[in-house]
Amino acid sequence: MFPWAKSVICAAISYLPPVHEDERDKSIPRGFVARVAQSTDYHAVLRGKLDRLARNIPGARFEVCVDTNPLPERKLAALSGMAWRGRNGCVFVEGCGSWVVLGEIVTDQDLKTDDEPLPSRCGDCTICVDSCPAQAITGYGIIDHTRCISALTQASGAIDLCLRPLMHNNIYGCDICQQVCPQNADIRPQSPEFAADMFPGQSPELIHLISMTAVEFKNISSSSIGWIRRTRIRRNAAIAAGNLRNKKALEASAQMLNDDNALLRDVARWAIDKINLDCRAGEG
Ligand code: SF4
Ligand code: SF4
Repeated sequence: MFPWAKSVICAAISYLPPVHEDERDKSIPRGFVARVAQSTDYHAVLRGKLDRLARNIPGARFEVCVDTNPLPERKLAALSGMAWRGRNGCVFVEGCGSWVVLGEIVTDQDLKTDDEPLPSRCGDCTICVDSCPAQAITGYGIIDHTRCISALTQASGAIDLCLRPLMHNNIYGCDICQQVCPQNADIRPQSPEFAADMFPGQSPELIHLISMTAVEFKNISSSSIGWIRRTRIRRNAAIAAGNLRNKKALEASAQMLNDDNALLRDVARWAIDKINLDCRAGEG
């Protein structure tokens, strides 16, 4: 892609947001958003920093990449000596754990590296493998993206019936294999850019997401989850409502039965069946 390139400068930034005590009404059905997308869109933050850094390399031709080019970002980060790869496929950076996102400056400058690739610290640990609800970690660093909940929430189209229950209330992403990792145990938030209290937050209300109009979506389209577009957000929210079996989501799901989109009508029917089934079991 960049025939003039001689070096890649690898960068990582911690995105771990602060934990807010949630004192909102617990009876309202809510979704879950992975930490990477709870607040400010990391692409803009990291690109801004890397642009400023690259402009300070005298006479350099450069291209800043933040998840926008098919670069093997994790592999480059490991080769650079900045990070090591875990069994869960994530890269780990000293002091940040795996709560990092990556970016690169590709440059025509012939830079020397002074670091060696870091060895894995996983040892015999298999906590992430054993904790993954989708059994999606199939080898060291190998994730089956046809089962991984994070990938499913981002993929377009219909979601297999047998995979829907695994998504629980996840609207975007999944943090389980990072949450359980002992290497992340003492990591604290460190980037103020990701402290903002903004959409989607950790747990957006499902009813709002299921019923989100095109106009409402326009207002949040530049948020960190906006790129999966309105249909996927509404699909994931309906599946989450079905999995939570919360009667409060019945009306919004019933309205989705009249949607123009057959995929949404299908998940609405699925969600209503799940909720009603649970209500009947409760009455019995
Ligand atoms: S993100 Fe979730 S579903 Fe995917 S591998 Fe990790 S724990 Fe499993
Ligand atoms: S949970 Fe254990 S095996 Fe998985 S990435 Fe963390 S240290 Fe490695």
